[in-house]
Amino acid sequence: MIKSNLPVILLKKLVLLPYQEVRIELNNETSKKVIEISKVYHDDEVLVVCPIDTLEENPDTSDLPKIGVVGKIKSSIELPNGNNRVVIVGIKRVKIFSYVNYSNEEDILESVVTVFDTKEIDEITETAMLRKLIIDLEKFITKNPFISNSIMSQIKGIDELDKLTDLIATFLPLSFDKKINLMLDANCVSRAKYLIKEINVETAVLELENKLDFELKKNLDLAQKEFILKEKIKVIKKELGEKDNKNSDIEVFREKLKSLKLPEKVEKKVLKELERYEMTSEISPEISVIRNYIDYLLSVPWNIITRDEKDLSKIRKKLNESHYGLEEAKIRIIEYIAVKSMNEELISPIICLSGPPGTGKTTFAESVAKALNRNFVKVSLGGMNDTAELIGHRRTYIGSNPGKIISSLIKSGSKNPIFLLDEIDKLTKDFRGDPASVLLDILDPTQNKKFVDNYLDEEVDLSKVLFILTANDVFNIPAALLDRLEIINISGYTDSEKLNIAKNHLIKKALLNNGLGSNSIKFKDSAINKLITSYTRENGVRELDRNINKIIRKIITERKLENKRIYNILVTETELKKYLKKELYPLKSHRTENSIGYILGLAYTPIGGTTIEIEVTSFSGDGKIKCTGHLGEVINESATITMSYIKSNYEYFKIKKDIFKNQDFHINFREAAIPKDGPSAGCAITTAILSYILNKKVSNNISMTGEITLKGDILPVGGIKEKALAALKTGITQVYVPFDNSSDIEEIDEEIKEKIEFILVKNYKEIYKDLFS
Ligand code: ADP
Repeated sequence: MIKSNLPVILLKKLVLLPYQEVRIELNNETSKKVIEISKVYHDDEVLVVCPIDTLEENPDTSDLPKIGVVGKIKSSIELPNGNNRVVIVGIKRVKIFSYVNYSNEEDILESVVTVFDTKEIDEITETAMLRKLIIDLEKFITKNPFISNSIMSQIKGIDELDKLTDLIATFLPLSFDKKINLMLDANCVSRAKYLIKEINVETAVLELENKLDFELKKNLDLAQKEFILKEKIKVIKKELGEKDNKNSDIEVFREKLKSLKLPEKVEKKVLKELERYEMTSEISPEISVIRNYIDYLLSVPWNIITRDEKDLSKIRKKLNESHYGLEEAKIRIIEYIAVKSMNEELISPIICLSGPPGTGKTTFAESVAKALNRNFVKVSLGGMNDTAELIGHRRTYIGSNPGKIISSLIKSGSKNPIFLLDEIDKLTKDFRGDPASVLLDILDPTQNKKFVDNYLDEEVDLSKVLFILTANDVFNIPAALLDRLEIINISGYTDSEKLNIAKNHLIKKALLNNGLGSNSIKFKDSAINKLITSYTRENGVRELDRNINKIIRKIITERKLENKRIYNILVTETELKKYLKKELYPLKSHRTENSIGYILGLAYTPIGGTTIEIEVTSFSGDGKIKCTGHLGEVINESATITMSYIKSNYEYFKIKKDIFKNQDFHINFREAAIPKDGPSAGCAITTAILSYILNKKVSNNISMTGEITLKGDILPVGGIKEKALAALKTGITQVYVPFDNSSDIEEIDEEIKEKIEFILVKNYKEIYKDLFS
């Protein structure tokens, strides 16, 4: 056994295997000396040893391995930083007998080594191992992109298992520990087995990695494909001049959000929805729902308030310019602004203008908006029976939108508009809910600060809105709602008031709307009066307005056809026929002659006051009463009460008692087409029956209103002014009115009072005395 001495280089964390080349940088003096000694005395050979315990700084020689690799120093260069760069090639594994200190140098180790005896391996094993290693390695290399294929050509020519195992071990990606094990293993068959196992594990790992890479790439490819396609669509759309809606929407929304000062909570919600919008694909059906919602959130006038006109005389002037009369309503508006100037936080009143159609309720609300310099919106409540119409559907419903309150607020563009709720008395109630109760929440100033629409799902402050409501008949407004309202009655206009409205408002407005100057067409007063009396029959002026417009249109067409100027044209009474054809209501007294068992009663209908003709007859029977003429329940009851009152007072009225035993009575209210109800016909029915039984006519200038009790007391009724107007139209000069209605009589225009005598009565016997005794 030939032993030799070699200086030792300790390489931490680096294993040198035979046939392997390592490059190291030596910085300590001991290592540099080892290189020197090796050069001078050992033909550039050193023993490279790798301490097994890598953590130990100065390992004891007993801890060093008993196997190492002899390396040949190929080159050694001194670097500018003083270190030595050395290239060493592994030559062979050697057995280490001992480590000793180098003769004069204490810190340098020397080793006593000898080469291993080459054990004979049987040929079959060697060949089989060689083949297996090469095949497996080839498979591994083809799968590993980091190992060059040229390695195979180096390897294929080797027929020694010892050499092949060491060579393969040098370029396999093995851990430090595994490499040490291989270095310490002098048996090439066991090394070959170890390597075959490692190569197969590595190949399997590589296969799995490749598979994962493939999956990942596939997914990435899909995402990339989608991205590229989207980009292409963008370009195509751009080429076609179309906009990229979603992105431009987002930009617009963000800009809008920046410019608006939304409540913090709403702003957060918008941002959240914008994020959702950005994430949602453009082809998703959800996209338009989100877009719509953001759009609505950004459109609500959260903080936009218009400045009220503060000059009360200016407001008064504008209201007078647009509307005649309506004094109470005008005063209330001026009062509101006056008090509001003292207290900005004043709770807005809820004004309800009540009166027949065409009396200026809607247009007045509009002109209040103009006078106060506020925006105006209108919602018609007529026939509404679904609460969702007012407060919207939840967003979960397909195609849902905000209700009319929020959408109108958006339309108005400010949070303090004049908000007209038209025809509040025409709300209906059914299975879809009770809009009246929802309206309570909307109108109640204590609750409407935090109004929540189902769709919007955010609190909106409605307390700055000035609600103006209209109704034809306050009796039809649900009681709970009525309680919150400030009712202003607009009862209708007398003929002279209508003349005034026509001259100062309707004609001016009609000329303006038709693009004519104020001197172009004039109406003679007599023509207007004729229009009022013979062409219209209304408490308001809508029909009158329509007729004036019609005449103006006809004149314009006529003049244009004749190529004539429209200037200084006077419309006279006689010309009306030409433009309007037939008189609808030729002047005549409503009843031609007075007769027995007949009287004109007065009624208050949704379209204003009217006269009703009541006639009575009897035939043999047993005292039953029958009523006809499209009557409601209340009026039927009135007739029964009346009959009982007359029967129980037959002696006072000087009636034969028998008459009720062998006679049936029929009370008919003429004009069956007009529905009649309301508790105001008791007096008139009593009078008609008494006239019939007593066989005494009642003058055709007399009428009456008032409900009657079983004792004959007369109870107050509504609509006195409207009834007075109807009486005036029919040429009645005397009207019996319940005593408790005296305050209403005080409010009636002097013009009417000059023509009609109002007689206040407490009990029916007073009427009886006047008419029959
Ligand atoms: P309502 O809402 O009460 O049914 P409108 O406001 O629609 O009535 O009025 C109908 C028409 O009559 C409108 O052209 C309106 O200008 C006119 N009008 C009604 N009352 C007046 C009035 N007091 N002064 C001026 N014009 C009036």
